[in-house]
Amino acid sequence: MDCSFSAAEEAFRAELRAWLAANAPSGEPEHATLADEVSCLRDWQQKLAGGGWVGIHWPREYGGRGASVVESYLFQEEMAAARAPEIIGRIGVNLVGPTLIAHGTEEQKRRFLPPILPAGEIWCQLFSEPGAGSDLTAVRCRAERTDGGWVVNGQKVWTSYAQFARWGIMLARTDPDAPKAKGISYFVCDMQAPGVTIRPLRQMTGSEEFNEVFLEDVFVPDAYLIGREHDGWRIASTTLTHERGTSPRQLVIHRMLLHDLLRIAREGVEGGPRAAADPVLRQELARHFIDVEITKLANWRTLTRIGRKQPLGPESSVIKLFWSEMSQRMHDTLMTMLGPTGLCWQPGPHAVERGRLSRSYLYYRAASIFAGTSEIQRNILATRVLGLPRGG
Ligand SMILES: Cc1cc2nc3c(=O)[nH]c(=O)nc-3n(C[C@H](O)[C@H](O)[C@H](O)COP(=O)(O)OP(=O)(O)OC[C@H]3O[C@@H](n4cnc5c(N)ncnc54)[C@H](O)[C@@H]3O)c2cc1C
Repeated sequence: MDCSFSAAEEAFRAELRAWLAANAPSGEPEHATLADEVSCLRDWQQKLAGGGWVGIHWPREYGGRGASVVESYLFQEEMAAARAPEIIGRIGVNLVGPTLIAHGTEEQKRRFLPPILPAGEIWCQLFSEPGAGSDLTAVRCRAERTDGGWVVNGQKVWTSYAQFARWGIMLARTDPDAPKAKGISYFVCDMQAPGVTIRPLRQMTGSEEFNEVFLEDVFVPDAYLIGREHDGWRIASTTLTHERGTSPRQLVIHRMLLHDLLRIAREGVEGGPRAAADPVLRQELARHFIDVEITKLANWRTLTRIGRKQPLGPESSVIKLFWSEMSQRMHDTLMTMLGPTGLCWQPGPHAVERGRLSRSYLYYRAASIFAGTSEIQRNILATRVLGLPRGG
């Protein structure tokens, strides 16, 4: 395994670090509403794009830097280390761009790619449905042929930021008689088209990033089909591949969480246990340190394999499963150490750090669900690594 970066990669890191030191917002801003937050994040993405720091993995001809996998990794690591906010247009930049570049027509690329990098247009992902999440081939949302396009009816769910999105990438069934994965097509959906209804869902963090999206007789023109009709599952694989892989951002976030845990263990909080002296908590903290190191090494091993052009295999499942469950164990320790003050997840007289850490606990409950649940990752490992037969 390579444990060091080349001189050129270190130079890339230094350039980015200097740019972030001069430009990244300092402190954690608090926003009155989600809309305010989204508006600030749009400005931040525009600034990043102005410096050439959005979509660095995109080819140069489309506004990227043609960055390597290692540079993309370093980019995420430095962004997280600078506590720079994540960009709001993640779905557009990370999923839609690479999918359109691989499968879109020239006209689609010309129309949709340019506004993605500076957050001129935000995208959402209309994949999951009430009966189709882990098994996306079960989508029931129906697209039927009409003059000049399709008419779409159905429901999507868990659609992040749909209420702010101008466009969505959407899977819909175009051939109900074909075997599950064969009858699906991949479309661009105009989120402002008549028949699209978006209903925000309130999460336990109090935020409403998620939405239900109802599609009633929504017209989708021919020009918005990506790739060939009924070939949507193959194209969705391009999108889903970009959702998995290494997780440098999570690595840095959890290294910072470890530092928070150690600080609280030493200093204690009002009403919480004296963690530094508690033998059980000491054991847990040592375990978290080891887990964060393992996550780092697993990421480096994956980077090495990619760098040597070796097939990735099941490593991305190991990384996703490992960090998401590590995260929940670390947050459980956090709540033990915060004691009753852990219940104060909004700013108030007893909240530790204005509730930031408690909100983090609530947020990371989702880590074992998004981008493939823990059960699905274990199924992949069981069948593809351990060679076990599929369950009934
Ligand atoms: C923060 C967050 C953001 C998201 N954003 C989006 C988005 O923008 N767009 C979008 O389309 N989707 C989004 N999702 C949805 C996400 O992709 C799904 O939640 C996920 O794929 C799981 O699907 P599901 O919720 O339908 O659960 P199900 O698939 O219904 O699973 C329910 C439970 O059954 C288990 N299970 C299912 N199948 C098996 C099996 N074969 N073997 C063993 N156990 C099984 C699962 O592990 C889970 O515990 C988001 C989810 C989260 C948490």
